[in-house]
Amino acid sequence: MRRRSLFCLLSSVSCLLLSAQADSPQRLAARARGDTPLLGDLRELCDTIGGRPTGSPACDRAVEWAARKFRDIGIKDVSVEPFTGQSLWLPGSAEAAATEPVRFNIRIAAAPMSPSTKGPLEARLLDAGEGKPEDFEKLGGAIKGAIVLVHSAEMKTFDDLFAEYVRNTTLLESARKYRPAAMLLESTRPRGLLYRHPISLDTSYAPMPTAVISREQAERLSRLAQIGDVRVRLAIVNQMAPAYQSKNVIAEIRGREKPEEIVLIGAHLDSWDLGTGAEDNGVNAAMVIDLARAFHDLGLVPRRTVRFALFTGEEQGMVGSQAYVARHRNELDRFAAVMMFDMGSGHTSGFFLNGREELRKPVNEALAAVDGLNAGQHLPDAIDGTDNFDFMISGIPNLVAFQDPTTYLPDYHAESDTLERVNAQEEKTNQAVAAILLWSLAENPERPAKRQTRAEVEKLVIDTKLDEQMRAFHQWDDFKAGKRGLF
Ligand SMILES: [Zn+2]
Repeated sequence: MRRRSLFCLLSSVSCLLLSAQADSPQRLAARARGDTPLLGDLRELCDTIGGRPTGSPACDRAVEWAARKFRDIGIKDVSVEPFTGQSLWLPGSAEAAATEPVRFNIRIAAAPMSPSTKGPLEARLLDAGEGKPEDFEKLGGAIKGAIVLVHSAEMKTFDDLFAEYVRNTTLLESARKYRPAAMLLESTRPRGLLYRHPISLDTSYAPMPTAVISREQAERLSRLAQIGDVRVRLAIVNQMAPAYQSKNVIAEIRGREKPEEIVLIGAHLDSWDLGTGAEDNGVNAAMVIDLARAFHDLGLVPRRTVRFALFTGEEQGMVGSQAYVARHRNELDRFAAVMMFDMGSGHTSGFFLNGREELRKPVNEALAAVDGLNAGQHLPDAIDGTDNFDFMISGIPNLVAFQDPTTYLPDYHAESDTLERVNAQEEKTNQAVAAILLWSLAENPERPAKRQTRAEVEKLVIDTKLDEQMRAFHQWDDFKAGKRGLF
């Protein structure tokens, strides 16, 4: 009798628990669509900490802030995981002026991985067109010791942005050969807008000071150079060091039935510094924090363990998530899925499946739980350029949200990436999508897909042409050597 009543009690508790869990997607969506602390958190991050390049005191403050946020929510398992990055680059000051034939101040932003000038540098400005090898060849010996101006087309699409990154490799080759004193790269955004654009995509510093220059002023200098000699003065001071320390912040809600299996949702916490990193990627860092709050406050404990990850070092080449994957290499078999958000607050229209077509069905089934999300336009492409990368090439099923790029691209890494850019209304739907998908991936009895073998990853890399991106971003050699992509 006693045993039986205990059994009844237990089964009614588990019944209650089950019915409480069955409507979890609806509860998560309703919460996301209401008033949440997300935007208040984002405001703190952007306004009181601001731009937070990895290795800077501001980034360290952001790490402390994020860990405190997770703890304040009531999450017991919060860890701050240190890692070492190579080749610190932090911006200091960057000033420029035309001195001949007319004096005027020029707006520039030092390119990450650019060295400092050795005191003020004044030299003749040479227009090197689009900066192609033949443009450098035409100018020949005149380039040595001159300041070279390189023109850029306006950036309108992701392809344009990718082309701007890819151009660096040939630009640096020409620069090493012809040895200008400095390079000025025309801003791809009009109306004087400046942004951080790394000149080197690995841990090597550029051979000469390099900066992005206001588009209109670049055009003026170019016109002046057509009618006579132009001289420009530059003074750039950056901070460099062989290595730096940074940290990832990880909060965990332990699964109720399969705690050894893990689903991870992540966003990068670091940013460039000209703006305050609101769209890239403060809003998604704040979303990851608020998702942890949602699960905690609603008392939702899914079958699997959920990890809420805020990585740093993303802008330096996904260094933080790379370190995370290396640190956790012995548990990679237990990662059921990984999901990243890194495209601001524009509408989430679907997910990059990253070459894993088998993810389409479980994602659609998860999102079907709630009406009006309009997030079913998935893309088969494998993308390189955010924190899914090291998970992807380690065989783990991974998703990256595809969000409306039209509001994201103009402010990318720019002075204008501030709180005003964030679309509070869309962000509510984005959060609902993220919450429902996270719940489903962590709750479904079956894993959404299996971990791939190294051979399967190698096939995926070729089939999706990911190798082209990996070569452009200087990751290919490490992948081939087995230093990236861990098994
Ligand atoms: Zn980003």
